[in-house]
Amino acid sequence: MQLRYADDFVEGAVFICANRRRCGPPPLQIRRFHLAREKLYSILDPDARNTAFFNLQLEWFREWGLEKMLVGPADEFPLLRRMLNALVFRRARIQRDEGAELYVGPENGRSGVVALRIERFDRPDELACFLRHEFAHVNDMLDPAFGYSPEVHLPGRNAAQQRLTRERYRLLWDIAIDGRLTAASRATLGGREQHRVAFDHVFGFWPESRRNEVFDALWVDRQPRHADLLAIASDPRGLDSTHEPVPGAACPLCGFATFAWAGAHGLSAPTRAAICAEFPHWAPDQGACRRCVEIYRIVGARTPLAV
Ligand SMILES: [Zn+2]
Ligand SMILES: [Zn+2]
Repeated sequence: MQLRYADDFVEGAVFICANRRRCGPPPLQIRRFHLAREKLYSILDPDARNTAFFNLQLEWFREWGLEKMLVGPADEFPLLRRMLNALVFRRARIQRDEGAELYVGPENGRSGVVALRIERFDRPDELACFLRHEFAHVNDMLDPAFGYSPEVHLPGRNAAQQRLTRERYRLLWDIAIDGRLTAASRATLGGREQHRVAFDHVFGFWPESRRNEVFDALWVDRQPRHADLLAIASDPRGLDSTHEPVPGAACPLCGFATFAWAGAHGLSAPTRAAICAEFPHWAPDQGACRRCVEIYRIVGARTPLAV
């Protein structure tokens, strides 16, 4: 398995490390890094200069233990090294864009691509939890026993129902992942209680006894299967009710995880117009956090509606 990095990922991570106030690298090393970097500006050919920057930054990325912070959690999942041709890291700007994907192509074979915000390097414990959870997704996708298929298409369901089914599937998968990590005494970002709140919210149309049974089974399942998760997610009940996003999911406008969703369907026309002016693809059933709605309510009140 080859490790690959996007240029701006390595650059951002090295700078965040060099600028760290507490527990940063020794000042002498930081000076050496900056001096070496300044010298590279004398390279005239832009491509050669960029390559030199990347190589220098990668050197310090390794020296300062940043690569180790990524590889350590990856090595807890042996399937990754065995089955991936490459593990690629790229930079995400907002939380909503973070996560891991598996790409399978005829030329490059299987690649795992992880997008993450470089600020995470400032909190190593959280970074490890985040990566472990994301690698567990990739591990499941690679594991024949899980039987993953990227096609989550259900015949006879409209686009909104398909999306809701996919969101439910993701929620169930997250529970099955963090349950296994917890059983293996690994720290996770989402605890049992937090998952249970989200689960009850999404499957509220089931009686409590059924919710207890399904949640507990998922949490302790050592070998969950894609087909089983999808079957639970596809329950036709609740698919037509007004869709509210899952607590703890990222607000589509600001990208921050929120537990305080505003009732986006009851928004006034000026507020909706103000949101759509900035987010043309936003639709009320995607929801928005209360903070954002408050901001756009004020913006909307100032902007006269086009007639
Ligand atoms: Zn997840
Ligand atoms: Zn928001």
